[in-house]
Amino acid sequence: MMRTFIYRCPATGYNVQGEHDSGALPVPAYVLQDCLACRSFHLVDPRTGRLMADEVPRPKPPEF
Ligand SMILES: [Zn+2]
Repeated sequence: MMRTFIYRCPATGYNVQGEHDSGALPVPAYVLQDCLACRSFHLVDPRTGRLMADEVPRPKPPEF
């Protein structure tokens, strides 16, 4: 089924509408979006509109 969602482009900060058609298959955890704002690609969760990069907290480097 066709699913549309809004995600925030990390390069420009714009909200962008994405869409994904999974057909008869289950909706994948992340879909690759050809971003209209920055003309790059992002991995977005079609259920929440969150980017994969948002959900992987970068470990803080130790400070010595
Ligand atoms: Zn973008």
